[in-house]
Amino acid sequence: MTERFAQVALPLPLADPYRYRIPASLADRALPGARVVVPVRRQEWIGVVTAVDVPVPEMAARDILGVPDVEPALPLPLLELGRQMSRYYGAPIGLVLRAMLPAALWGHSTILLEVVTGSRFRAGGTAEKLLEWLHDRGGSARAEAAAHALKRPIWDVVDRLQRVGAIAVSVVSPSTAGAMATMRVAQIEGTPIPLIERDKRFGRSPKQRALYQALEERGGRFPVNDLLELTGAGPGPLKSLVSAGLITIADIESPRDPFAGDVPPARSVALTADQVDALAALDQIAPGAGALLFGVTGSGKTQVYLERIKLALEAGRGAIVLVPEISLTPQTVGRVRAMFPDQVAVLHSALSDGERADAWRALHRGERRIAVGPRSAIFAPVRDLGVIVIDEEHEASYKNSETPRYHAREVAAMRARIEGATVILGTATPSLESWTRASAANQVVRLPTRVAARPMPPVEIVDVRKAPQVSGVSGMAWTQRLDDAMTATLTAGNQVLLLLNRRGWASFVQCTACGTVVECPNCSISLTVHRHPEMLRCHYCDHHVPMPEACAACGGVTTRAIGAGTQQLERVVSERFPTARIARMDLDTTGTKWSHHRILDRVGSGEIDVLLGTQMIAKGIDFPNVTLVGVVDADTSLHLPDFRSAERTFQLIAQVAGRAGRGPKGGRVLVQTRQPEHAAVVFAAQHDAEGFLAAETELRRSPAYPPHTSLVHLVLSGEDLAAVNARASALATWCERIIAKNELPLLVLGPAPCPIERIKDRWRVHLILKGPPQALGRWVRTAAPRLGGERGGVRISVDRDPVSLM
Ligand code: ADP
Ligand code: ZN
Repeated sequence: MTERFAQVALPLPLADPYRYRIPASLADRALPGARVVVPVRRQEWIGVVTAVDVPVPEMAARDILGVPDVEPALPLPLLELGRQMSRYYGAPIGLVLRAMLPAALWGHSTILLEVVTGSRFRAGGTAEKLLEWLHDRGGSARAEAAAHALKRPIWDVVDRLQRVGAIAVSVVSPSTAGAMATMRVAQIEGTPIPLIERDKRFGRSPKQRALYQALEERGGRFPVNDLLELTGAGPGPLKSLVSAGLITIADIESPRDPFAGDVPPARSVALTADQVDALAALDQIAPGAGALLFGVTGSGKTQVYLERIKLALEAGRGAIVLVPEISLTPQTVGRVRAMFPDQVAVLHSALSDGERADAWRALHRGERRIAVGPRSAIFAPVRDLGVIVIDEEHEASYKNSETPRYHAREVAAMRARIEGATVILGTATPSLESWTRASAANQVVRLPTRVAARPMPPVEIVDVRKAPQVSGVSGMAWTQRLDDAMTATLTAGNQVLLLLNRRGWASFVQCTACGTVVECPNCSISLTVHRHPEMLRCHYCDHHVPMPEACAACGGVTTRAIGAGTQQLERVVSERFPTARIARMDLDTTGTKWSHHRILDRVGSGEIDVLLGTQMIAKGIDFPNVTLVGVVDADTSLHLPDFRSAERTFQLIAQVAGRAGRGPKGGRVLVQTRQPEHAAVVFAAQHDAEGFLAAETELRRSPAYPPHTSLVHLVLSGEDLAAVNARASALATWCERIIAKNELPLLVLGPAPCPIERIKDRWRVHLILKGPPQALGRWVRTAAPRLGGERGGVRISVDRDPVSLM
């Protein structure tokens, strides 16, 4: 009998999948798309078969050990999607497939090392380091973690230590079981230790201190795993805190998933004439193609999606609805579930791995026909996919920020072509790319007015350089007009939304004598001022230090906080409106599962008068009693060194303005700015998205930026700046050579330091490739597979169609 071989993709950065022999007993199940258990060095890994009956490998191939599922986990159309993504983004197929299947379906055996107590073995070098490291972890740890921590291969040493009986080695097989239904949380015992006593208490153990403080900052109670990840501490220091009686650890039930229960069924609504027309136009879209549903905020786009999905279900097909962030869009998710009870699987990041795998399996088996979720839901195994809806298609969160750096919109287009589905991109503020593509293909479907003839709220621009300020308010621009408008709104018993897209207390502290700004030692950005608790904190790596009492450079004692953030805004509002009930929504107040939900629920039930926050409050919120929206500082993102900064600013102002006047009471918007003439501000105030798109499209012609050209962003990073620079120059030369050899019409910009020069102790230098998509595609396919992994301490990330160049 001839031997058969399969190609198996592993969730590892390998350019090519490995080949394995298919034992005859597994032949009927080791099909393309199937999960298989295969040996990789000393471990067993779960991989996915990408092809069978491949040529006999040159090296002796090992056997596939098992096939856990009866049916392939990855249906063939999704396997094809994985191949296309791998080519388009230049990402290893194994990493692409890893992103497509729920984490719980992957895995590998774990090798545990344990110190044998009583062993008197003495060693030097790596063996000694390994033993010490294990001792620090309480005697046992995963071999992988050890290799990682010691930054060197450890197998020889492990063998030796095992032979002399100093350590024991055990293997735990990859698990296919789901994750736990309970969660371990750490909690501070009694009143927190006063700050001044902490040096004495923790002087010799900075890890314990970091853990303790991180726990305190998060309200004194936080999931253990998240805490360890946050601080980078091991279980050792945590145990010490427990034995010192400072904290306790308990298993609690996972918080209830608000998307798990029943929903009241939707009331049926009669579509407006515009909605009927839009639905008819969407019905004309050919299978495999897409349309842009361009409708102002509150125009009833969601209702149109729902009706379109209903048509798909009636035709026996399924649907995917993508939303920017599940926790920020509970209302949209709720409406889909209300319309199609029992048909919807909500896939979201707050589910445990096991729960997510369950939702995924329900779709795979065809028990549910509709998947709702963030960008990764584009991979949901919906059967016979008929329609893909991408709500708020302009949102940056549709771009994945690690390999594969895919954009859900691009992947949706690929998947629609493979499965003959229709893509609907919905938004009031289209991205320039979608706008250009859809206009050229004559695929723009409009909803020009709000439902029930509600007017768009009038927007007033307030020039804070000239407008009278309220006296006595320090730290931020607070105009009399905004103050008066709030008084009127609150007196009438209505609600106010205030946007300030900067969290913390203030942007940074500056010495008034010498001008020095306090920066993060690991990342080249200024530290942000926080008040509760009081400290300076890095928004990239979470490095934090106490507020300095004097300038480190000149010793001057007067430092000034500049650029007010949401914490300071909260203080100002509570001083000006002492009886108002205020809620703040930003990354710092929404650390735990469902905290967004709770805040939004309170706004919905009228328990909150003023909701203030960062961009989080600009999305998908529909509250009829919000009659005033204030943009406290429209300029926060206007001058970031990124070609999309104007686009972002426009979208943010237009979206948050769209939250006002959604009910019969109407509403108004006030925008405070120092640049009242900037196009992003002016067009947003006029609710004129098309005007903005036309103006911005012109600005991007020269120098050319998307949509007039396409980009690949190459970021090199490493701890040694000289090494990073050297590699960057070599990479630039190499790029030029590939371009010349293949006669590609591409331009290489750089190398240059990234706008954010350093993140988490790594220096960052970038190159930008510009040119037509076909040529960029060829470059990516040729070059990207050869840039993986870390060499000489330098990593290169390849980002095709970047959303940010920071
Ligand atoms: P968008 O998604 O465009 O922002 P929504 O779909 O949220 O708009 O609609 C705005 C409001 O109008 C919602 O409260 C929604 O329930 C309501 N609405 C939508 N379509 C209709 C309709 N045909 N008749 C009555 N109310 C509608
Ligand atoms: Zn930092």
